[in-house]
Amino acid sequence: MSGIAFFGGTFDPVHHGHLIVARAIAEHRGFAKVAFIPAAVPPHKGQTHAVGEHRLAMLRAAVGAEDRFDVCDLELARPGPSYTFDTLGELRKRFGAELHWILGADMLEDLPNWYRAGELMDRATFVIAGRPGWEERMDEVFDKLSRRFTPEQVDALRQGVVPVPLIDISSTDIRRRVREGLSIRYLVPEAVEHYIHEHRLYLPAQA
Ligand code: ATP
Repeated sequence: MSGIAFFGGTFDPVHHGHLIVARAIAEHRGFAKVAFIPAAVPPHKGQTHAVGEHRLAMLRAAVGAEDRFDVCDLELARPGPSYTFDTLGELRKRFGAELHWILGADMLEDLPNWYRAGELMDRATFVIAGRPGWEERMDEVFDKLSRRFTPEQVDALRQGVVPVPLIDISSTDIRRRVREGLSIRYLVPEAVEHYIHEHRLYLPAQA
C-alpha cells in the first residue's frame, strides 16, 4: 500500500457518496491515502453555494480521525479558477510526477473541455469512479473522448475505471433537501449535518 490519490471537487457539501467512493478506490488500488481538494472556483460550475471556508470545514469534519483520508486546501489558497492542470503542477513539485487524480464518471465526458486537456492527461493517472446511470452511456462517452485524446490517453482512462458501489447521492440533492426543509440524515456524516444547520447553509435567501 503506497501513495496518495487526490480527489478534487466542489464538495458543496461533501456527502457519503464521496466518502464511500474514496474508500473503495483506496482499497481497490492500494492507496495509503486519499486527499480531498476543494476547489475555490470550479471552472465548470462557476460560483459555489457555500464559501470555501465552510466547504473546507465540512470536509475536515467529515474526514475526522479517518487516517486514510486527508484534506488539502491548496486550491482554496490560490486565487482565480481552480484549474486541475495548475493544481497537478503544484502537486508535482511536492509529491513528484506519479500523481493520481480521482474523478466521478459524470465528469469524464467533460474532460475534453478542461483547461489544457491534452497535456492534463499526461500530468496524472486518472482514477474513475462510476456513478449511477453512467454504465449505459459508457461507450458513447469513450467515443467522445477518442475524438479529443490520443488512443493511448483514452486507453489509460479506460484502465482508470474502478468498480465502486454506485451511490445515488449528490450535493445538488442535499442542497435541495435543506432548502425544502427535508432531512439530510444518512446522506452526509452527522458532523456535516450539524455544521450545515448550525451555519444555516443552503437555506433559501431571506426576502
Ligand atoms: P453537485 O451535485 O453540486 O454537482 P456532486 O455531488 O457531483 O455535486 P462534487 O463535489 O461536484 O459533488 O463531486 C466531486 C467529485 O466527486 C466529482 O468528480 C464527482 O463526479 C464525484 N462524485 C460526487 N458524488 C459522487 C457519487 N455519488 N459517486 C461517485 N462519484 C461522485
